Amino acid sequence: LPPTIPHAAAAAARRWPDAPALIVDDRQWSFAALWQDARAAASAFIASGIAAGDRVALWGPNTREWILAALGAQTMGATIVPLNTRFKGAEAGDILRRSRARLVFAPETFLQTDYRALLAGEDLPDLIGMVHPDTGWDAFVARGRGADDPAVDAAFATLTGETIADIIFTSGTTGAPKGVLTAHGQAVRVFADWADRVDLRTGDRYLIVNPFFHTFGYKAGWAACLARGATIVPQPVFDAAESARLIERHRITFLPGPPTIYQSLLQELAGDRPRDFSSLRVAVTGAAPVAPALVERMRAELGMGNIVNGYGMTECGAIAMTCQGDDAETVAHTAGCPLPGIEVRCVDPEGRDLAPGEAGEFLVRGHAVMQGYLDDPVATAEAIDGDGWLHTGDIGTIDARGYLAITDRKKDMYISGGFNCYPAEIEKLLSGHPAIEMAAIVGIPDERMGEVGKAFVVLRPGASADAAAITAWARANMANYRVPRHIVFAKELPRNAGGKILRTALRDMTREN
Ligand code: ATP
Ligand code: MG
Repeated sequence: LPPTIPHAAAAAARRWPDAPALIVDDRQWSFAALWQDARAAASAFIASGIAAGDRVALWGPNTREWILAALGAQTMGATIVPLNTRFKGAEAGDILRRSRARLVFAPETFLQTDYRALLAGEDLPDLIGMVHPDTGWDAFVARGRGADDPAVDAAFATLTGETIADIIFTSGTTGAPKGVLTAHGQAVRVFADWADRVDLRTGDRYLIVNPFFHTFGYKAGWAACLARGATIVPQPVFDAAESARLIERHRITFLPGPPTIYQSLLQELAGDRPRDFSSLRVAVTGAAPVAPALVERMRAELGMGNIVNGYGMTECGAIAMTCQGDDAETVAHTAGCPLPGIEVRCVDPEGRDLAPGEAGEFLVRGHAVMQGYLDDPVATAEAIDGDGWLHTGDIGTIDARGYLAITDRKKDMYISGGFNCYPAEIEKLLSGHPAIEMAAIVGIPDERMGEVGKAFVVLRPGASADAAAITAWARANMANYRVPRHIVFAKELPRNAGGKILRTALRDMTREN
């Protein structure tokens, strides 16, 4: 295995020099060209005063320049700090400050005026400059001495598997986003195993709709393509019609994403325009539960022969995944079995191992586990115990085959009349109601029961149902303690960029109500 992501890019340039590495609109770059461009960017970083170990922030949609800036920075030993594109100025400012970023890349067209003032402010003493990759990329690269700069070779020669590759901030589903430090060696190994499991091949054309600022679009995205010789087709922001166009135009074979994007593509297929999605071969989903009916429709209607569900978290990349050939039920109801060399336990609150099928918290150990949280030894020690086990905060079961099923998050569980209630399970049950498009549940305090569920329900277009009817239906279809005591109707649910329901936002809505 190559020790670092830039080594993987260098190896790709040697192995598949003329094969297409990257396609954007009508332009195409080979693996040799991509590596040349990344080296030229590395030289520009050196010329800009960036040193090995410095942090470079990347804030913008999925583009070629995002990849080149990341790879260029890593090639000369810098650490990348990807920023969520949904962040508003103050949130981005907070992360830039916490990570002590030296340079920030943000497209001119993406940056709102008020962010400019923030980024230029004295509040960010470590920041020495800003680059607009959309309008200023060539000018940035021109600062350097080009791809053959001997300083780039010297810097590249010092990289090892232990060099920190990135600081990625968690999604902030359960609280403030935490910065996670990952070394190159562990990233390369985890995502080589990931690529094996999902069968990413040389010659695959991979449409990357998952954001680059997250592990899924970056390490399981363009970095995995470099390792395998697959072609990267980045999509700046997800839009179903545009994805459909790109799939047809570039004969996309490989399309990972959150479950919602497959739903959108099915709608696109049902639209007036005839669509040819026959090139699609592999779907990789994860990060949120997926309905069995959706898996079946993806097979039948999108013609995706290989659908993989995976479980991962920023703190250790990919943990477990289903295997090729697993049936729709397994794909929908489990997150598969651990990747090679990753140990997973399922324990009760006292830390005792549970029997197959019993619900507890997942603990994970092995090469995949992060180096730690950014400048937060206390949080790191809380997350990783003395024996090296990462406490995931996820609740689930492991079956006799060793397949994991995620029931919920420790933090989302609530106790109603003494019974553990897992919102994700109840949401799945509720979505069986013919009028319900989706539902999200949070536990709220209740004098009599301790806690009760409050459901936020989104109805299917054109459907109608009132709270009493839904409650009656729920009584007939789930255990009494699971029946939500409060039902409110919502037009949509607050979600983050990865498609995850933001329960913190729901809880805030609850307080306001
Ligand atoms: P934060 O840690 O800031 O609260 P987050 O945990 O959502 O945010 P990520 O690291 O992006 O941030 O997400 C990892 C989490 O996503 C996992 O801990 C798990 O709860 C959830 N998850 C991942 N894969 C799946 C899956 N296949 N099914 C259900 N949930 C999943
Ligand atoms: Mg988390």
